[in-house]
Parts: sequence; structure tokens; C-alpha cells
Amino acid sequence: MAAMGAAGGALAAGGLIAGLVASRPQIVVLPNNGALPELQPSDSRPRIVSRSEWGALSVDHTARNENGLYRKGSNPYGWYVYPASLRESYQTLIIHHSAVYEADGPATLMEIQRLHREDRGWADVGYHFMVDKDGTIYEGRALTARGAHTAGFNTGSAGICLLGDFRFEAPSKDQLDATLSLIRWLVDLLSPTHLAGHQQFNPATICPGPFLSAEMEGLARAAGLRFGIDGYRPAADAADGCGCCTCAL
Ligand SMILES: [Zn+2]
Repeated sequence: MAAMGAAGGALAAGGLIAGLVASRPQIVVLPNNGALPELQPSDSRPRIVSRSEWGALSVDHTARNENGLYRKGSNPYGWYVYPASLRESYQTLIIHHSAVYEADGPATLMEIQRLHREDRGWADVGYHFMVDKDGTIYEGRALTARGAHTAGFNTGSAGICLLGDFRFEAPSKDQLDATLSLIRWLVDLLSPTHLAGHQQFNPATICPGPFLSAEMEGLARAAGLRFGIDGYRPAADAADGCGCCTCAL
């Protein structure tokens, strides 16, 4: 079932996108898995395992709960590509935990992908980045597209998910070090002002768990960010945000 959208979805998405773009010329549609300029090497960029390296499926624009491209009013939860520069679009980095952990990091990525695409019905993995226990950083959803990770607060926030269940365990030093290096690079790239945990936005969730939550203010300070949700403001033309929340717990 996990491969359902890979071929059929890509073919179907081509026609769908062509039709949508004709009526929404201001929306720029990027190649699903194409190399993004934001992920080019820079002085501060850590090693990031690309989507193709970990075997991410193509974005499925027929997904039932994103339902094609964003349209203000008629499809507010659709796939939204930031029309402005990313530095103007992002204000907050939001930290998550995966809650699920399979045999290893790659197996966990496959489970997250299945959970988000099949169970949640999103077009793609909802997080922008995922960080394994050994410090390996994986590319998720394109940074040029709105994530699907924090209900009501996805527009303008980048989602970073640490793999593990931090209700019961502490993140490893390697995992925290890699996360900080990722955050510092994103600060250079996106100029966000704040870092927060998922639970601060959506109090009903336990994510990212108390053991990781205890580390977040320190991560924010080490990266020169303020801690909390006060910096959040959605992009003016996509104020609906996305009502989705993809975390398992
Ligand atoms: Zn979360």
C-alpha cells in the first residue's frame, strides 16, 4: 500500500497540476522531488540525507486531505507553495517527536511516510526535517511548501521531528547536536525569530514529550532564537493555515 501514490499519483498529479496552474498563475509548482536551491551546500549546512537517498515517495497531489493545490477559501488545506522568499515566509521552527520508532531510522521514516500519506491522507511527509538518534538528518517535505505538522499553525513554521518517543527516553547527545546544527543552518537560511515545541501550539498533544521539551529552551538560546509561540504569524495570503496535525501522539 505504501507505494500506491508513487506511479499512479505522479501521473495523475501532472494533469491536476496543469489544470490548477492554469487558473492560479501566481502559484509556482516545483518538481516533486527536484533539488531545491535552499538545500545547496553552504558554510553552515550540515549533511542532510536527501529524499531520493532515503527513498521518499513522490508528492501525491491526489491525496484526500490536501486535495491538490492550495486555494484560498475553497481548498485552504491544499499544497501551499510560499509565494514570497523563504526568509519572509518563516517565523518559527517547531520541534516534534515521532513517537513511533521502528527497527532503525530508515524503517521509522517509512512508517512516518505511511502514517502521513495513508492514515492522515497528506500529499507527503508532513515534517520538513527528521533527525535520527545517531544524528543523521533527513530531508522531508520541501521547505518551499507549507508543512503538515501542527494543527492551525503550519503556515510560516518549519517542522523538525526527532525520531523517538521522548515520553519515555531522553534524546541522545548526537541527536541534539545534529538538531542544533540543523537549527543554526535554518536560522541562516530562513531568519526565523522563535523556536517552540508542538505542545506549546497544540496543548492537547504530548509531542515532543517531556524529555525533549526540557531541552528546547536551551536549543533556542544556543541558536540565538527566542523560545515560545509569540513570534507566530501566518502568511497574509494563507491565513487559514492547515488544520492538520500529523504526529502519532
Ligand atoms: Zn508533533
